Amino acid sequence: MRYDQIILRYGDLTVKGKNRSRFERRMLEQVKRALAGYEGITFHKSFGRLNVKLGIHDYKPIADRLKELFGIVSLSPVVSSGHDLEEIRATALALMNSLSVAPETFKVSAKRAWKKFPHTSQEMNHLVGGHILRHTPELRVDVRNPQQELRVDIQEEGVYLFCETIQAAGGFPYGTNGKALLLLSGGIDSPVAGWLALRKGLELEAVHFHSYPFTSDKAKEKVVELARRLSYFSGEPIKLHLVPFTDIQTALVQAGSDNLIITLMRRSMLRITERLAEQNGAQGIVTGESLGQVASQTLPSMDVIGRAARMPLIKPVIMMDKQEIIKIADRIGTFETSILPYEDCCTLFLPKSPSTNPNLRIVEKVEAMLPNLEAMLAAAVEGTETQLLSSAAPSAVESAGKDSWF
Ligand code: ATP
Ligand code: MG
Repeated sequence: MRYDQIILRYGDLTVKGKNRSRFERRMLEQVKRALAGYEGITFHKSFGRLNVKLGIHDYKPIADRLKELFGIVSLSPVVSSGHDLEEIRATALALMNSLSVAPETFKVSAKRAWKKFPHTSQEMNHLVGGHILRHTPELRVDVRNPQQELRVDIQEEGVYLFCETIQAAGGFPYGTNGKALLLLSGGIDSPVAGWLALRKGLELEAVHFHSYPFTSDKAKEKVVELARRLSYFSGEPIKLHLVPFTDIQTALVQAGSDNLIITLMRRSMLRITERLAEQNGAQGIVTGESLGQVASQTLPSMDVIGRAARMPLIKPVIMMDKQEIIKIADRIGTFETSILPYEDCCTLFLPKSPSTNPNLRIVEKVEAMLPNLEAMLAAAVEGTETQLLSSAAPSAVESAGKDSWF
């Protein structure tokens, strides 16, 4: 049986009364962009959902792409029919017969959204179910726990029949909840934090600190690859800001005691990022910090580090266990890249025992001892190089085609 449409159902945004039309507009743009390569696809917007009319195209690759987009809670490939009862019955029977695994029990769940249709939902369950039973002797009805549910959705413009509801990524359409900068390292956590932020509708630009020549081109390429992967999910090119951090890092290493070096570096990173955020019209900073994971991610450490910035610090994976983070990394196809060996500018000078409880007064004193720190921060902002990156080719994101979300 050929599916001729896919119905997309919206998630979170159904609760947002006022913003609704803006979200729906963004959603349509986003879907159109994601399907730009397919000719002849058309769309029909209705309350809380969007119908994608497939034209000549097979539903499968299109459904796989659409279920990665944010703001869609679920989708169903459907067969459409006119309002004529015999046509609906014949379509229902053909759909049931085409299932790859023939069920032993089934039920019909009709929903009459268009009230002028002559039969009630209940009547339709019997009219359609009876027809299928008459033509499929081995099939039985089980209304409580059917192996297969056939849905018949009666709308004013037509009737949609479907057997499958595929879970999609959920959240909000890209860019409908403001813009933030993502601190992107080459590790496992920050790309996951980025994906979760995208899913909540944040527009993102990525910021990466490098200590060239101490960190290599390989390390940079890895971050470029991760940023590209994130842009696959937003469906739009992503900016990556590459910040030269060598001078600041060297100065901090010379000025501070060993155990405070990470604290000091993180504070300078935040200050620079905040300026980049202001320059680029962003209002928050997203990081991949996870409580207790390393010394700089204890609550006292995060307190002292966070005081260097005034902007909201958004930490999507803060309460997640590493295994949970890895599961998402695997699902979104960043894990394999993240575990490639690389030198991060922070691991380079990693002290033997970084402080888990840094003293704010001492940290501030060390910073005050560096009269040219301010000039160095400004120079780092000035020396930042920005690249505009597009998503990896679909073949490279096979993992994104996996079936279930966690
Ligand atoms: P990740 O797996 O994301 O690297 P991590 O557990 O290794 O995280 P840290 O290295 O302590 O943690 O870094 C904490 C957060 O600081 C990262 O998640 C990232 O948001 C940010 N960060 C660390 N290093 C850099 C860097 N070189 N450039 C940009 N951001 C960084
Ligand atoms: Mg790291």
